[in-house]
Amino acid sequence: MEKIKMTTPLVELDGDEMTRILWSDIKEILLKPYIELNTLYFDLGLPERERTRDQVTIDSAHAIEQYGVGVKCATITPNAQRVEEYKLSQMWKSPNGTIRAILDGTVFRAPIMVKGISPVVKNWKAPITIARHAYGDVYKCVEHRAEGPGKAELVFTAADGTETRHTIFDFAGPGVLQGQYNTDASITSFAHSCFRYAIASRQDLWFATKDTISKKYDHRFKDIFAEIFEKEYAEQFKKLGIEYFYTLIDDAVARVVRSQGGFIWACKNYDGDVMSDMVSTAFGSLAMMTSVLVSPSGKYEYEAAHGTVTRHYYQYLKGQETSTNPMATLFAWTGALRKRGELDAIPALIAFADNMEKASIATIEGGTMTKDLTSLWEGDVPARTVNSRAFLCAIRDEFEKFRNA
Ligand code: NAP
Ligand code: MG
Repeated sequence: MEKIKMTTPLVELDGDEMTRILWSDIKEILLKPYIELNTLYFDLGLPERERTRDQVTIDSAHAIEQYGVGVKCATITPNAQRVEEYKLSQMWKSPNGTIRAILDGTVFRAPIMVKGISPVVKNWKAPITIARHAYGDVYKCVEHRAEGPGKAELVFTAADGTETRHTIFDFAGPGVLQGQYNTDASITSFAHSCFRYAIASRQDLWFATKDTISKKYDHRFKDIFAEIFEKEYAEQFKKLGIEYFYTLIDDAVARVVRSQGGFIWACKNYDGDVMSDMVSTAFGSLAMMTSVLVSPSGKYEYEAAHGTVTRHYYQYLKGQETSTNPMATLFAWTGALRKRGELDAIPALIAFADNMEKASIATIEGGTMTKDLTSLWEGDVPARTVNSRAFLCAIRDEFEKFRNA
């Protein structure tokens, strides 16, 4: 059989540790036998980030900007221990943070669902995708500990020097206070990313804040979403039969739990931090959580939600057998290849991505899985635990059946 040809390079960002091993195994076992892989390769492994003084990360983000689609392996975010371990000249910043700052994107996380591993919430039948606004609010706040009585004020000095003052509280005794902000520009980008992703994935979009209590701050989020939706997206939503739905955050929580899933839930920064952990835990395993960064201008970067699985990597280095789940990393590749196929009008590439995902799900549903899933397994057939490479080979066998069917 002839290999599938690609017309535009896919921007490939290699990474670290166990996921770097999975990365090369996925390419060797599942991609290269079927596709003439055309990638623009950037090595974001920590040694190369050190060698290039992190320029490689910046270059890779600009390449995604230029070509439109990237796929990223998990990478180490250095801390003091990593500076020691890798003899780093600096504690380089999180690559994801650097890339997100350049692409100005929103991260969408969705679980891969398989029969036999059921969500804790029994009525969830389809994935719930969380979109987290990863900018500002409490993550960039200024805090103050009032040691005793005093007056707390909010002062805004406009560019022309005009001052606006609000009393926050007259403290009779000690207490705490906090100042946080967001910008119209960032909220606008967030809204565009959400609406675009809803259209691209043909799913309803829910958004929730606490605008009844926060009448200026949260209300601004609500208004920006509503204005942008009406002006730019309402018609497309109608055409696709999907809906934009705004509600209060507490109402959203209740509705999400009672829902069947199958929609995108856009969250403010803090809500997204908390709710994404709740939703991913309830769906089962971090190793089955996919993630895509979507920029407001429609550039896509696909990755797994988990990290480099360091604990398994140290076992691997000692020559011990490891059973690390490659599903989310594989879905990063299939997601990126499908998007490339859509943008370049290559039906064979889209079909490849669809079939590879189906084959990997069928492999698990047939009882063959990595160790992390075994304890969650409730399927009819007994679970057969295999190592990562054997799992990828089982997926290839399943994929061959699909191809030959
Ligand atoms: P992690 O790599 O996500 O792993 C945490 C634990 O979750 C693992 O020890 C393992 O549990 C389980 N796990 C995660 N993915 C798995 C998979 N594919 N298959 C099987 N089990 C899996 O998080 P971490 O250990 O906190 O972080 C390790 C490194 O990754 C850090 O240097 C961090 O900076 C980096 N990181 C990168 C990204 C990113 O690039 N997007 C995200 C998060 C963290 P058991 O040990 O119980 O088997
Ligand atoms: Mg969190």
